[in-house]
Amino acid sequence: MKKIEQNSLYWALLRISIIPIVLLVLVITALSTKSLADSIGQEAQKGLKNLSNTILMMYDELYPGDYHVINEDGSVTLFKGEYQISGDFSIVDKVKEHTDADVTFFYQDIRILTTIMDDQGGRMTGTKSNPVVTKDVLESGEEAFYPSVLIDNKKYFAYYAPLSNSDGSCVGMIFVGKPSEYVDGLVRRAILPILLLAITAILLAGFFTIRFSGKLVDAIRKMEEFLEKVTSGNLRAQLDLNVLRRNDELGGMGKHAVMMQKSLRELIEQDILTKLYNRRSGEKMLAQVQSDFRKTGVPFSIALGDVDYFKKVNDTYGHECGDIVLIHLADKLKAHMHRKGFAVRWGGEEFLLIFENYGLEDTVKSVEELMEQIRNTGIDYQKEKGIRITMTFGIVEGSKEKIDYIIREADEKLYLGKKQGRDRVVY
Ligand code: GH3
Ligand code: MG
Ligand code: MG
Repeated sequence: MKKIEQNSLYWALLRISIIPIVLLVLVITALSTKSLADSIGQEAQKGLKNLSNTILMMYDELYPGDYHVINEDGSVTLFKGEYQISGDFSIVDKVKEHTDADVTFFYQDIRILTTIMDDQGGRMTGTKSNPVVTKDVLESGEEAFYPSVLIDNKKYFAYYAPLSNSDGSCVGMIFVGKPSEYVDGLVRRAILPILLLAITAILLAGFFTIRFSGKLVDAIRKMEEFLEKVTSGNLRAQLDLNVLRRNDELGGMGKHAVMMQKSLRELIEQDILTKLYNRRSGEKMLAQVQSDFRKTGVPFSIALGDVDYFKKVNDTYGHECGDIVLIHLADKLKAHMHRKGFAVRWGGEEFLLIFENYGLEDTVKSVEELMEQIRNTGIDYQKEKGIRITMTFGIVEGSKEKIDYIIREADEKLYLGKKQGRDRVVY
């Protein structure tokens, strides 16, 4: 595979297809992650609020009456009805054991009953609530959620509600919370499949884009190489079949390019009137045949032929008729040379036949057969029926001599044939 350059079509395709996909996947992932995190947060909030209500109901059931405190020597004791609830951790510890949620009863903003332990393993009793919470819940008497409240250097996903008595007075607060880590973990676990899906989607998109772009760019590159060869003069260059077989615009372009190459080749190599090879390509082919002969020893021969008294055809039937006669003759020569070699229009009514893998004897025989056919074929032109012509040939067996010399030899023999009365071969 060719080195991929930075400014190649390959990267352009990759960029225009991958970047939007990646952006789209990222946006979808972010949105779904956000809504998932929100709904998990809401669920967790609901859970904490329910748990808080259950705890308060349990206390009401077990210890009917209002909350009140006895404040002795700076030490606060919390009562509910007649029962002292501070110092009795059995209920809150059980709640923590079963739900993993920490519970705290506040008198005003002071922790009275709590499951939260400090670094030394002692309960955080007597410490104060976060000032923000104090302001939000105690002062306004409203419940509140916090996704992240710092308690003794630990973050909590927390629910706070005011602790109210039957007359509506606010005594303190109840806190129910779980470490933020816990809720974050839930979110992380829920997001993981989405992330995996997103990564898979991006990888798949990347894989298919690379494959598709690779194929496409490869085809375009082959086209480029082909056109490069054609423009540098190689009219026999072949376009990769995989490009030609494509059903898309690129395949169409390939077919047109090949057609263009063919037209170009015909323009350069063909004689316009007869569609035979012109003298220029005839000379090239002869050089090639001789070069093969030098390398492999495979023989070749040439026959230079000229139409007899062709001027008469023009003079009698007109120049246009002369053209038609030449076209008919050319078709005959071409058909005759099929699988034998090439027929070339050498000049006006002069033709060169190149016989590949033919010795002198076989060539003479073949040319005599051809002359017989020409002699016996009448050509029709408008009202004129059966116009007949003959040809004279000079034949030379191929050698290592210069091409010009070989041609001159054939020409001399042709001239001799003319002198000897025409309609004959000289070799
Ligand atoms: P010979 O070769 O037998 O000596 O006689 P000739 O009459 O064939 O020879 P000459 O060279 O005198 O005449 C050749 C003629 O061929 C002259 C020219 O006008 C004609 N000719 C050459 N090319 C074309 C062509 O493309 N179309 C037509 N119609 N005539 C052509
Ligand atoms: Mg002639
Ligand atoms: Mg002539």
